[in-house]
Amino acid sequence: MNELDDIIAALQSSRRILISVHKNPDGDALGSQLALMLALEKSNKTVVAQNIDPVPEIYRFLPASVRIKTGGTVEGRYDAIVVLDADPPRTGLFDGNYPADRRINIDHHLTNPAEWPLTWLDPSASATGEMVYDLIQRLGVAMDHEIALCLYTAVFTDTGSFRYSNTTPKSMRIAADLIEAGADPWLVTENVYESFAYRRIKLLGIVLAGMERSDDGKIAWVVITEEHYRQFGATAEDTDNFVNFVRSTKGVEVAILFRQTAALQYKISLRSKGRIDLSGLAQSLGGGGHKNAAGSTVDGTLEEVKRRVIGAVNNAVEAQMGSAPLHGRRP
Ligand code: 5GP
Ligand code: MN
Repeated sequence: MNELDDIIAALQSSRRILISVHKNPDGDALGSQLALMLALEKSNKTVVAQNIDPVPEIYRFLPASVRIKTGGTVEGRYDAIVVLDADPPRTGLFDGNYPADRRINIDHHLTNPAEWPLTWLDPSASATGEMVYDLIQRLGVAMDHEIALCLYTAVFTDTGSFRYSNTTPKSMRIAADLIEAGADPWLVTENVYESFAYRRIKLLGIVLAGMERSDDGKIAWVVITEEHYRQFGATAEDTDNFVNFVRSTKGVEVAILFRQTAALQYKISLRSKGRIDLSGLAQSLGGGGHKNAAGSTVDGTLEEVKRRVIGAVNNAVEAQMGSAPLHGRRP
């Protein structure tokens, strides 16, 4: 694994290191970021973690999460910049003009174009956290209960609590090792899945009540507008995972969430049950992601965006249904 050797050498020869993750950071992004920060600090590096968006409330239990800086403007100089769990433009930092000669990208998204020479991409990893686990071992840093908690959260959330098709024996072995090292599974579950703000549950009720589906029931969607946010005092982070409820409907092959981000702009979340590959579809809409979970941001009125996205999903369903087996052994 040549790129990993190069990344280790680059990190070891750097003194000041910046670590950043994607907009609307999730459990994998934040867990990976904090684990790598703590590990590099154990190797006497000076590390700054900064993201454009704040840490969602449900992830503030993560060790050192209060140290993550927020905002698009980065102060100071760094010997190395590490972008985790996304292709670098998705951090929204530096307006795309990244300084420093050591630019490192570690990610598991199939659609990452690997534009930086120091890119380590492993789409077979269930979570970027799995890759950071390997990296930390290779750096020779001893696991401790704080790093373990961060990495467990990363793998736990990106595998949908070890339920999704990306779950592998390796994900389970890493999780077992992390629990042995002191990660507390219930602490993670309680914070991530059993501590939702009241406003979120109220919003979920309204949003699901507005669910619609195609005549054959294979495509279903929900819409979240700025009016919904106002009604409940909610924000985008309160809508995380809503699309999974839509997918859980019997007969639904693809679930879509349209979330308004500006007067004429919608963030699209796509989820598949496994028969429809969404990554190319999301790319054709200007975004990216994985086979079963992908997204994009699309400009237009709600009617225009819905017509375009539902049309594209419908074409994918017609082209792909029957060609991909849902059951059976992993390839
Ligand atoms: P979500 O729907 O939860 O925002 O994202 C699902 C998956 O699609 C994630 O793996 C995420 O990284 C990817 N994704 C979502 N939106 C975008 C986007 O605008 N661009 C790219 N490249 N990936 C996205
Ligand atoms: Mn991830």
